[in-house]
Amino acid sequence: MTPFSYSRADDAARAIDLAGTSAAKFLGGGTNLVDLMRETVERPIRLVDVSGLSGAIEEREDGSLLIGAGVKNSTLAAHRAVRTRYPVLARAILAGASAQIRNMATVGGNLLQRTRCTYFYDNEGARCNKRAPGEGCDAIGGFNRIHAILGASESCVATHPSDMAVALAALGATVHITGAGGARSVALTDLHRLPGDRPDIETVLEPGDLITAVELPALPLAAQSTYRKVRDRASYAFALVSVAAALEVKDGRVRDVRLALGGVAHKPWRATKAEALLMGGPATAEAFRAAAEAELADARPLNDNGFKIELAARTITAVLSELAGANA
Ligand SMILES: Cc1cc2nc3c(=O)[nH]c(=O)nc-3n(C[C@H](O)[C@H](O)[C@H](O)COP(=O)(O)OP(=O)(O)OC[C@H]3O[C@@H](n4cnc5c(N)ncnc54)[C@H](O)[C@@H]3O)c2cc1C
Repeated sequence: MTPFSYSRADDAARAIDLAGTSAAKFLGGGTNLVDLMRETVERPIRLVDVSGLSGAIEEREDGSLLIGAGVKNSTLAAHRAVRTRYPVLARAILAGASAQIRNMATVGGNLLQRTRCTYFYDNEGARCNKRAPGEGCDAIGGFNRIHAILGASESCVATHPSDMAVALAALGATVHITGAGGARSVALTDLHRLPGDRPDIETVLEPGDLITAVELPALPLAAQSTYRKVRDRASYAFALVSVAAALEVKDGRVRDVRLALGGVAHKPWRATKAEALLMGGPATAEAFRAAAEAELADARPLNDNGFKIELAARTITAVLSELAGANA
């Protein structure tokens, strides 16, 4: 394998040119990709170092925030505008991994980190349609406590592991991409795909597409936001269920709300059904619980993860109640 590197922060075009084929991979902090290469799950023929992509966080006049894809996770979580105007994002990042990993991990790499399904990692003993399309999925009949309850398919029940992406989904972030066909942008909620019968295709990115930045809209509501992650141990563990939420309450009624779930699906799950039910309604624990149940009505448990449905309902209710209390 030939490693390439470039250092000009805005030289996305050169990186794409170097990537050339779908067998090439971009290397951000390398904290996920290198692990996968060690396990021989990923076998790129070429690596293009993109850690030199923009590391700037730009506060724009319209109140939006433009975050370079090369910004380190720890830098983003510590940024004053993020801590004060989008606390859900700072909290989500700090709930993930370890300080050392966050110091290396980039925004682009965090979004594109791959599932933590143990069958996906087990290259020698397990079947996985994500790793080897058409092979079968041993997670479905296997030990599937950490797997998806929403949007899964007969081919794949893996979940997306990123905490940061869940907060970005709730905040309505946009992802800026540059590829062979030029620049374009997609909503964060449209970046990742549900598995369907092609779980190996995880995003709408084309081969050689490079994430260059993530944009957060000016969202005054986001100042009252938070992230709660429920996991098997207090740190260094992925979410069983997580909730990112922002809530504005006026005269006891929900004036605006954003809600997304992590640990439950193949992509960060924006809870649009719950949001629609909550808007304009009473800001009470009963209403929060009813909205959570509506969102989870389509949940399909596997052998070992039925607990996630009640866990998600309770976590949504608790987080929204906490924010409503803070608002009051
Ligand atoms: C022990 C451990 C615990 C962890 N716990 C958590 C956790 O609790 N929560 C959580 O959210 N994460 C967790 N992580 C994952 C960690 O957050 C990710 O490994 C990290 O965010 C990936 O960022 P990176 O820059 O190192 O990505 P890389 O490993 O460099 O890249 C990941 C993928 O993204 C692609 N890529 C990178 N940059 C770009 C770009 N700009 N454009 C297009 N493609 C790109 C790469 O080609 C690769 O496919 C943990 C990781 C470890 C090792």
